[in-house]
Amino acid sequence: MSAKDYQKDYYKTLGVPKTATAAEIKKSYRELARKYHPDANKGSTDAEDRFKEITEAYNVLSDEKQRKEYDEARSMFGGFRVPTSGRPGPGGNTFDLGDLFGNGEGLGDVLGGIFRNRPGGGTASRARRGADVETETTLSFGDAIDGATVTLRLTGEGPCPVCGGTGAKSGTVPKVCPDCHGTGQQSRNLGGFGLSEPCKTCRGRGLVVEDPCPSCSGSGRAMSSRTIQARIPAGVADGQRIRIPGKGASGEHGGKAGDLYVRVHVNPHSVFGRSGDNLTVTVPVTITELALGADIKVPTHRGPAVTLRVKPGSASGTVIRVPGRGVRRKDGTLGDLRATLEVAVPQDLNKNSKAKSALEDLRIATAGADPREELLRQARQE
Ligand SMILES: [Zn+2]
Ligand SMILES: [Zn+2]
Repeated sequence: MSAKDYQKDYYKTLGVPKTATAAEIKKSYRELARKYHPDANKGSTDAEDRFKEITEAYNVLSDEKQRKEYDEARSMFGGFRVPTSGRPGPGGNTFDLGDLFGNGEGLGDVLGGIFRNRPGGGTASRARRGADVETETTLSFGDAIDGATVTLRLTGEGPCPVCGGTGAKSGTVPKVCPDCHGTGQQSRNLGGFGLSEPCKTCRGRGLVVEDPCPSCSGSGRAMSSRTIQARIPAGVADGQRIRIPGKGASGEHGGKAGDLYVRVHVNPHSVFGRSGDNLTVTVPVTITELALGADIKVPTHRGPAVTLRVKPGSASGTVIRVPGRGVRRKDGTLGDLRATLEVAVPQDLNKNSKAKSALEDLRIATAGADPREELLRQARQE
């Protein structure tokens, strides 16, 4: 351990006078810990470092024996820089403060543990991007075409509401990890190479919980749900996945939030269908409308009906294009409405003898030409 560690003023860290009572120390610690707790300061590595300093100071000052030893060390060296071992101290002697407290116990152990191996404030606070989150929503046919703002209920992991994310039982606080001394990293020496890996004891958090919160078993995390409003753009198709940036799980230590992916289901419409950017509609027409031609009224989606001209001699299945009555594209232009003409054959001619006799007259008038003649001829040739 380094002697300069004794320069750390734990009283100053906790904002209390040297004469502070145990209750005053505890009160001040509580306030500071709440203020600087990592879960209350998402993204601030400064706050996390500060939180660890506060916790270190409290761990020493809250323990009567350790506080006494610390006070003695401070009064002995006055908080001034003291030469470390290997360099001559006052009186020309080489000394090591660790020896003062004997056998690595008591204060020496505590201070050494806290301050050793803390390069640059600890790598435990590395920024981490939040996870992507996936959810589903179902839109009406019309909302999918026009776009809609939907309310999404997202279930995900967040801070435990019972312990506020500390993982510690009510009335207790997490302590600096004794194995990594708050860095969250452990180093292994492999043939001269220093290998750094996340601390197994605290799983890289730098803090350990001695008395775990009964609700989250000390993890500090809990499943929770939140509700967000999301805009689904116009023209979304059934089964499409919409990405909403930054609405996934929140990042850690200043990391960006993940993205939200919304899988959209679209309810079918009783009249209209979708084919890409085009809407489709099947329009019943009579035999005479197809044969003689007609102007027919066709519905459009969320607009007035349009009149389409059926050319004389149109086949059943003919598609008539109605430009601009389809789905709005990303560039703002509109797809088409595709109207498919489908012959509606008179069903109950016995109730309409006039129509029946007219059709029988038609049969006689058009007899002779077999409409399947060409079909049968081609089939024979193959
Ligand atoms: Zn909890
Ligand atoms: Zn650790």
